[in-house]
Amino acid sequence: MALSGVEIFKLLPKTNCKECGVPTCLAFAMKLAAKQASLDQCPYASDEAKKVLGAAAEPPIRVVTIGTGDNAVKMGDEVVLFRHDKKFFNPTAIALAVNDDDANIDAKVAAVKNSVIERVGQFLRVNAITVIDKSGDAAKFAAVVAKVVAADIPVILHTKNAAVAEAGVKSAAGKKPMIYAADESNAEAMAGVAKAGGASLAITAKGLDALTALSEKVKGLGVDDIVLDSGARTAKEMIHDYTMIRRAAAKKNFKPLGYPVIGFACRDNAQAETAITAVGIMKYASLVVVNSIEKWQNIALFTLRQNIFTDPQVPMQVEEKIYKIGEPDANSPLMITTNFSLTYFIVAGEVENSKVPCWLAIMNNEGLSVLTAWAAGKFTAGNIAKFINEIGADKVVGHKELIIPGYVSVLSGSLEDKLGGGWKVVVGPREANQLPAFLKQKVAA
Ligand code: SF4
Repeated sequence: MALSGVEIFKLLPKTNCKECGVPTCLAFAMKLAAKQASLDQCPYASDEAKKVLGAAAEPPIRVVTIGTGDNAVKMGDEVVLFRHDKKFFNPTAIALAVNDDDANIDAKVAAVKNSVIERVGQFLRVNAITVIDKSGDAAKFAAVVAKVVAADIPVILHTKNAAVAEAGVKSAAGKKPMIYAADESNAEAMAGVAKAGGASLAITAKGLDALTALSEKVKGLGVDDIVLDSGARTAKEMIHDYTMIRRAAAKKNFKPLGYPVIGFACRDNAQAETAITAVGIMKYASLVVVNSIEKWQNIALFTLRQNIFTDPQVPMQVEEKIYKIGEPDANSPLMITTNFSLTYFIVAGEVENSKVPCWLAIMNNEGLSVLTAWAAGKFTAGNIAKFINEIGADKVVGHKELIIPGYVSVLSGSLEDKLGGGWKVVVGPREANQLPAFLKQKVAA
């Protein structure tokens, strides 16, 4: 459980020596509480302080990873119930369910591999494959697992049979698979397979009391990387159980439920499946298993997930600079907008659509959109003129014409005055989707 600044202060030397770079031990304690400093910065911290603060620094929900490398799925490590209290850290993973006797396994592996889309500078994808033991044949199961692993996709081994799980773990050796699942009937055997193979272990029980007891049992068997399935399958059950689990872990530091959660949204109806998956994304599932990954489902779910898991206190931003869109030359149009990611990517996309090479000057407005930045007094004539001059726009283009967003047309006159030196300001369209027509007309003129 996180300690308050005052509780941390009691553990510090209280000499105010300043060697940590902060004027007082109390100020340093406050920084530690806000996770803006590390105890290593105090050379005089006692062993007791290190022990207590080390334990307090453990996340209330344990981090569990499936897979290795860039595509690994990291789950857990969450600390709050509501994203506005801090942020959510590890986006809900989506895993496609594949039966080991499915005739279309190769196509499904390829579909997961090719599910990547780029949105506002981030690459979003279906994250894992759950191989389901339908055949009861360990060799067949292991062969499918090998195909998934060969494609560098994190794998979940879905079986209640310890011998099949063992074959799957061997097939995914060194790739940190997750076994689904241990229950009351097979916990000892599954725990043994997970420990021996370096796999994480999902546990399943009906209801939170039974899940708590099973979690304590599996932990007692020496498994640290546990993932929870309460048996919830409807939206109502998922919201109830997952909220109780998150609350117990984040608010009460209740260790038996301090693990990531796996949910199953699998439905024959793709729309219903998408809706249930959305519930899991919004309400604390660390990973949701689905039956289908049609592009329309992915776009909806990826977008939702990206929005839930961005930091609500830090707008998504792109770097301040002049971007080339296409292959512009000295005569190409020069436009300006703010560094809010969504603004940048929408404008850049529409300029690309226009096929008119352009220079796009992106000004740092702390990630605010055009109108918000203008209303906040950041995207002003004075600031824009200063930015355009300091960034050397006149050395990038051979003309002195700057296109501003239509929403801030009110700035055009004052901006021309502030820029001076013969600069001309042209008011562009209000909406980005009007840019292609505007630019084509401009170069044709
Ligand atoms: S280095 Fe340690 S003892 Fe010195 S001021 Fe910082 S917290 Fe206090």
